[in-house]
Amino acid sequence: MDQFKEFTATELYCNNCKQAMPVRETLLLVLSDGDMYGYRCSRCGQYLGTRKNSKGKTFR
Ligand SMILES: [Zn+2]
Repeated sequence: MDQFKEFTATELYCNNCKQAMPVRETLLLVLSDGDMYGYRCSRCGQYLGTRKNSKGKTFR
């Protein structure tokens, strides 16, 4: 079970919706040292957070 350690947020609190909402992960930027992902509320589309996926580290 430990091999499933993906650091992915599936729900984040949305200020618009006033509750934790499922998020969609979208690729924002491709950088030299990693990719930047953004999380958007699946209902209203508000950006709720970002994540940087460093190259050289794998999450699975
Ligand atoms: Zn929302």
